[in-house]
Formats: sequence, C-alpha cells, structure tokens
Amino acid sequence: MPTPQTQQNDKDMVYELGNLALMSDALETESGQGGLNRALQIISVLQTTLDSDALIEIFSQEISVMIPHHSILYEHPAQGIRREVGTAAKHSCSYQLSAAGQSLGQLTITRKKKFDRQETMLFEHLLCSLVYPLRNALLYKGALTAALRDPLTGANNRAAMNAAIIREIELARRHNTTLSLIALDIDLFKQINDEYGHTAGDYILKSVVERISDCIRSSDMLFRYGGEEFTILLSNTDKEGAMLLAERIRRTIYTSSYQYGDVLIPTSASLGVACIRGNDDASTLFERADMAMYDAKNAGRNCVKFAQKN
Ligand code: GH3
Ligand code: MG
Ligand code: MG
Repeated sequence: MPTPQTQQNDKDMVYELGNLALMSDALETESGQGGLNRALQIISVLQTTLDSDALIEIFSQEISVMIPHHSILYEHPAQGIRREVGTAAKHSCSYQLSAAGQSLGQLTITRKKKFDRQETMLFEHLLCSLVYPLRNALLYKGALTAALRDPLTGANNRAAMNAAIIREIELARRHNTTLSLIALDIDLFKQINDEYGHTAGDYILKSVVERISDCIRSSDMLFRYGGEEFTILLSNTDKEGAMLLAERIRRTIYTSSYQYGDVLIPTSASLGVACIRGNDDASTLFERADMAMYDAKNAGRNCVKFAQKN
C-alpha cells in the first residue's frame, strides 16, 4: 500500500547558470573535500545521458551519500514522463524546476526521517547540477517526438509507422502472438476539399483522428501515412478482433457529425484488414491491408474488407 506523504517543503525552484559556484561552496562545507571537484564530477556524470529516466536514476545515486533518501520521483505530465526511483516514504520535499522560463517538471525526494534545513539547502544546490542536463534531455525527447508525429493531426507519421510495423512483427514472432493492421482511407476526400475548402478538409482530418482515437486502446497505434490515409497497428489482435474494431471505427466515423462553420460535412471511410502470416515482412503486411482497403473502395466505399489470400 502506498505510504501517505506529508509535504514538508514545497518551493518554486528557478535555477539559472552560474550556480556552480554556489553548489561547490555547499559541497565544500558538507563534505570538507574539494567541493568544486565534486560538483564538476556530478555534472559530468549527469551529462552522459539524454534519457530523462536514466538521468533521475544517476542523480539519485550520485547524491545518495550526501542526502540519504528512499525515493526520488520526477514528473513532467505535459511530456508524459513519470519516473520514480525507490519507494516513497513519509517525508517529502517537492520542487518545481524551470530554466530560461521553460517548465522542466516537478521533482520530489522522500524518506522516513525528516530532512533538516541544512540538507534541504544542500539538496537545492545539488539540483543545480540536474537542471541543464534535464533540459537537454527534454529537448531531445521533444525533437524525437516531433520527428515521428504528423503536426496537423498529432497522429504518428509514416516514419513512425515503418519502424513500428518492423518492431511489432519481430515481437509477434518472438512471443508467438498475432498482429493485425487496418488501412483506412477517407472516402471522396478530394470532393470535401473542392466543395468546402482546404481548411474544412484539414478539420475533417483532425476530427477523424479524434474519432479513431476514441475507438482504440492505448496499446493500439494510429499512423497518418499519407494525405487522408491512415493505419492502425493492433498487437496481440486476431482477425476477429481486428474486424470488429475496424467496423466500430467505420461506424463511428460515418455516424459522427462534422460541423464546420454552419455546414455539416458528411464523412465516411473505407477500411482494409490484414493479419500477420508466417513469411510477412513490414511491406507485405502493409500491402495486403492496403489491397483490402481498395477492395472496400471497389465494393462501394464506407465498408470493411479482409485481405484475401494472394
Ligand atoms: P477515394 O474515395 O477513392 O479515396 O477518393 P478521394 O477523393 O479520397 O481520393 P484522392 O486520393 O483522389 O484524394 C485525396 C485528396 O486528399 C487529394 C488531396 O488534395 C487531399 N489531401 C491530401 N493531404 C491533405 C491535407 O493535409 N489537407 C487537406 N485538406 N487535403 C489533403
Ligand atoms: Mg487516398
Ligand atoms: Mg480517399
């Protein structure tokens, strides 16, 4: 059972460059040995990674002799990060971290015994060493995410899709599990652009992504790989499950209202479903789902087809 935390301290910490001197002074007093050397040592170890999880683990380890603690929790909800090292104890100190006006999330240190004032001051100085490596790690994560995301809809992009299909095929083989892929193409989308304008078309693209996202589980992955073309990759899902989901997505898209200004834009999509076979690679699995989607177009659109053997 989680131990209830008593908040001992709650401060806004804003660290700027130039705090190295302060930090080394604090370490000097604390350890009685080369404070600047120790400060530089901590900073250089923290600069060995751009992974925020690893950074928190290293930080916890590096400061553990000076400030014994039971846990350190780092949270950055906007970036979907939550990393806890150790098990939370009763007393805690929390800090909002920021640098150059940018929020870097919240860090909480806990232990059974209360932190005394000298320790919290030392901890605040030690945080100086974390702020800039942490900022670099967050910038790196943001750049990676942006490279794999479609800016219009927020869905994963084609590069992300290629990597994910390869990875999921490997996992399915290793664990002997099923894997399905749905290809989805919005019907007569060119007409929507022509009749209501390009920004109305963009609105439909965003809305369709929202509708699909409402239908799928967090383990399912949605990609926009072309203009009005999407895939949904379903790990551990067989033909029956994938066909049920594809039909639910089709119905949701078709029955939703798309109000743009004072017009309602009727929207539907055609879907094709394929399941992994023994000799599939990423391109053969994708091609079969895509061909099934074209079967759905040929069958009159606004329907779902399963990939025929070929
Ligand atoms: P079908 O039912 O056969 O799929 O017909 P369709 O009109 O949807 O297919 P087509 O491939 O002819 O048209 C796709 C259109 O998508 C053409 C292109 O201008 C439009 N498109 C591609 N990317 C975007 C985008 O980012 N925004 C908007 N508004 N339109 C886009
Ligand atoms: Mg298309
Ligand atoms: Mg289309």
